[in-house]
Amino acid sequence: MPGTMDALRRLAAAGFQLVIVTNQAGVERGLVSERVLEEIHGAMLLAARRAGARLDAIYVCPHLPVQACSCRKPEPGLVVQAAEDLAIDLKKSFMIGDSPSDIEAGRRAGCTTIGVVSDQMSFTATDIPPDFIADSLATAAQIACSVSRDWSVRQVAPRPVSQSVRRRRPFPRPTADQGG
Ligand SMILES: [Zn+2]
Repeated sequence: MPGTMDALRRLAAAGFQLVIVTNQAGVERGLVSERVLEEIHGAMLLAARRAGARLDAIYVCPHLPVQACSCRKPEPGLVVQAAEDLAIDLKKSFMIGDSPSDIEAGRRAGCTTIGVVSDQMSFTATDIPPDFIADSLATAAQIACSVSRDWSVRQVAPRPVSQSVRRRRPFPRPTADQGG
């Protein structure tokens, strides 16, 4: 996807841990071996690092839908697993995805969700609506950065609005000697 490395760099610089959660039923179907998949993922991690970006982990569900496992999206199993393994706070995390099952898995895991729409992918009225919609991974990264910045600002300075209004200096009134 064009702009992917830029997006990863931006997210890494903002302090995010970057995890891919992917359904790969082709493994169970015998279309791709686990070894080949591992090689592909190894190449992705390397490409990210070479581009000055970062990927922390790739989690794979190899099962078929009929196997009804707990790790195939929209099940949140792998997202929760990643959070446990990497000590990630899901409430301060984003699920960025282009399919309804990504968004549902993220929502069920307690993440804020960003749906990436394209000519091939969009969300329908029956899907769980993403919290945010982006037209590219780059835009999704921007949204995640600005929303999380807002979260941390609120944590550092939880000042109610009324207080800041009260603190405001009164408008200076004209004094008797003014204009004289
Ligand atoms: Zn699975």
